[in-house]
Amino acid sequence: MKTELTHLISLQSIDLNIKKMDDELNVGNQDIEKREAEISSKKDEITSCTNRIEENGARRRELDAELEDGAVKIKDRQTKLMKVQTNREYQSLLKEIEDSKKSTKDKEEEIIYLMEQEENLQKKIDELTNLAQAEEGLLAEEQEKITKLTAAILSKKKKIEKSRNTQAKKIPVPLKNRYEQLRDKRNGIAIVGVTNAVCQGCFMNIPAQQYNEVLRGEDLISCPTCQRMMYFQAEAESEK
Ligand SMILES: [Zn+2]
Repeated sequence: MKTELTHLISLQSIDLNIKKMDDELNVGNQDIEKREAEISSKKDEITSCTNRIEENGARRRELDAELEDGAVKIKDRQTKLMKVQTNREYQSLLKEIEDSKKSTKDKEEEIIYLMEQEENLQKKIDELTNLAQAEEGLLAEEQEKITKLTAAILSKKKKIEKSRNTQAKKIPVPLKNRYEQLRDKRNGIAIVGVTNAVCQGCFMNIPAQQYNEVLRGEDLISCPTCQRMMYFQAEAESEK
């Protein structure tokens, strides 16, 4: 059992190294994804501002046309005003002219409001465009860095995986299967040291009798709490 234990410990150390590399690769990719998402959210916002400017423009053209119609109407009523016969007709025309003028004023105010809004939207678009451009520059730099780092990690990983295969072949298949299952279930760690009767995987105490068996190292003992396989690890060693 002692040889198998040594092989398992070596395999675990290799696997932890590989896991560390995978984590590094993930961190790089996540960083890129995060940057891409931020840029894309700015671009979405730019699109939505552009759409609103277009909508405003359409509404303003509508109002311009209505203003023209209104001016024609006012002129027409003013001409009629000269020729009226009755006071009632006169009052009614006056009222129409007044209403048209009021409506003209409202439309002009709406146009001013829309133009101010468009100016602000355009300012926002310019700001967002500048930010997105700067971020795209940084992203390109980061991508270059990550690509290089990824290549370096992958080439290291390839070498390590070779030695992992060699190491894995030294372990009997049932034991290796058990190791793999534990590794899957226990966050990548299947075999752990026990220091001062404490499992270094789950940090729970190991009952005295089992601890003694771990110390002897003749049988493969599992932690009663986390089920990981255990080996004795002196205190100073665990601090490394
Ligand atoms: Zn444990």
